[in-house]
Amino acid sequence: MISAPDRILTLAEVDEWVLSERAAGRRIGFTCGAFDVMHAGHAQYLAEARRSCDVLLVAVNSDDSIRRYKNPLRPVNPWNERAFVVASMASVDRVTVLEEDRPLSLILRWKPDFYIKGGDYKAGALRSSSVVEEYGGQTVLIPPQFAASTTSMFERIQALAVHASPDKKTNSPARGLALLDRDGTLVRDACFDPTEVELLPGVVEALLSLQAAGFRLCLVSNQQGIGLGYFGYRDFIDGNRKLLRELGKAGVSIAKIYFCPHSLADTCECRKPAPGMILRALRDENIPPERCFVIGDSVADLEAAQAAGCKELYVGPSRHAYPAMSITEAAQVAIKSIEQLSR
Ligand SMILES: [Mg+2]
Repeated sequence: MISAPDRILTLAEVDEWVLSERAAGRRIGFTCGAFDVMHAGHAQYLAEARRSCDVLLVAVNSDDSIRRYKNPLRPVNPWNERAFVVASMASVDRVTVLEEDRPLSLILRWKPDFYIKGGDYKAGALRSSSVVEEYGGQTVLIPPQFAASTTSMFERIQALAVHASPDKKTNSPARGLALLDRDGTLVRDACFDPTEVELLPGVVEALLSLQAAGFRLCLVSNQQGIGLGYFGYRDFIDGNRKLLRELGKAGVSIAKIYFCPHSLADTCECRKPAPGMILRALRDENIPPERCFVIGDSVADLEAAQAAGCKELYVGPSRHAYPAMSITEAAQVAIKSIEQLSR
């Protein structure tokens, strides 16, 4: 039997393989997907797919295409490993790469007899299925038999991680949680050129004093620029890399970054002044709201804090009902409050 690495073909090698399979009178099935963290649903799907054809070709999404169409932080496993696992399945004959977001160009290139998709896609809604019918192929839908999904697995793993924390003996619980707005509070507003991200004066000292007083620090940031298309997830991640490096060099550690990528036009519960991100941070850190301080430069930060039952600390020049306050002073207020609570 041909080994898994030998079943992984370049597009040009698939061209030849398709010709020889056709010549041998075998009907070709084609499917595609990320196959990032394999589970029973994938195995059942591929076995079922193989039953509807004579030979099965699977195009595994490239790392870049997954970042583009699915999630900038995925895949968990790199392409060569995902392709290897898929190629190791008994139901799979050949594996290749899908660089584009959609399989249309590969379908037109090889014109498989069967284009196979998971049953949760409506055949009529598939742009590809009309193309398949035009050249005389057939779209096959395979209904899922298992409820397993990679997303639900991740959620379960995250939940387990939260519950496992009491066992950790080294990590004493944080005395307080400081949720920091990013733009206008830690760095200059709306600065996304990674080389230009610069900490505002006093930020390092303030965060060091919070940390020394037993605070855990997290960022909570609206990034509607992503929703509006001004910049991508990647710019945001790159921008934060510089920020985290600068803070790290100074000895400040940020436990987590919460961000809302939606624009005003989207309905979401995370965009400040909605309290979604803050409530999630409270859950994740297992801290009561009275020990949580939201530090930010806009009314939205303060309203979100109030809605979550946390204390709000305004940083900036005097504005509306809020007197001028520096981040250093805000940190002092938070530290004093925590000390009073601990008495
Ligand atoms: Mg701000």
